[in-house]
Amino acid sequence: MKKWNLVFDVALCTGCQNCVLAVKDEYVGNTFAGYSAEMPRHGHPWVDIRERERGRFPAVDIAHLFHACQHCDDAPCMRAAQNNAVTKRSDGIVVIDPDRAKGQKQIVDACPYGAVYWNEALSLPQHWNFDAHLIDAGWPAPRPVQACPTGALRALKVEDEEMRRIAQSEGLEPLEPDTAHRTRVYYRNLTRYTRVFVAGTVIGEEAGLEACVAHAQVQLTRGSETIGKASSDAFGDFRFDALEPASGRYRVEVTADGYSGKALDFQLMDSHWLGEIRLALQESGK
Ligand code: SF4
Ligand code: SF4
Repeated sequence: MKKWNLVFDVALCTGCQNCVLAVKDEYVGNTFAGYSAEMPRHGHPWVDIRERERGRFPAVDIAHLFHACQHCDDAPCMRAAQNNAVTKRSDGIVVIDPDRAKGQKQIVDACPYGAVYWNEALSLPQHWNFDAHLIDAGWPAPRPVQACPTGALRALKVEDEEMRRIAQSEGLEPLEPDTAHRTRVYYRNLTRYTRVFVAGTVIGEEAGLEACVAHAQVQLTRGSETIGKASSDAFGDFRFDALEPASGRYRVEVTADGYSGKALDFQLMDSHWLGEIRLALQESGK
């Protein structure tokens, strides 16, 4: 049986918010009988794009994260609901029934992803149901996917075995790998949002002037473990990414032809720039 899955690529998302606007356009002021009651104009980011800035000038980047119902196969919201108010469809989509769920605030509290919102005026828990009414009308993908200009969002209707193969070959992972909710939203390049980097710039001397050192070899170690190797670019810059935040004491060792090597020890807390690492020219004959 083929089921729906959503794939979000952190590296391709520009944070344009088109997906957020598409969902607001679909649901604010619109009721879809049997699927969803209308979405309040404010305070209900059923689909949300979160933003995280890493590092500081001159080594800084911004990553975005798609956040919405994960359409869990083992859904805590379903277990918390009474009167069959939350159901898992055979195509993988989780739907909160807008009539049966009335008054059931415990459904909001049960979602570990914070993806269910309480509509005070209607006394109703609500979430993004994958645009189930459009899917049932034959749409090939939900509106956030259709609105995404970069391909950061993809909707795949495939058998679970095929999805496992795609996830493995593309390096997809769930939002929270340590949980067992068997979510149907997959993330690519998630470390761009969840992990930290360390960067630096290698500077040397050329004809009496300061110069960026390209092709310097940089090694990152933690204790006796080699974490990674990199080479500086034309601007002397290097970067190691996907490191665990607050993961202890590290060392970078920098070597480059014609220069004496240098080592730097540091404590890694958050993304940061190590600064300019100045290499001294080797004395001729050495
Ligand atoms: S993300 Fe929350 S609302 Fe969505 S299926 Fe899982 S538990 Fe339910
Ligand atoms: S529409 Fe696509 S690129 Fe724009 S914020 Fe949403 S996922 Fe990111």
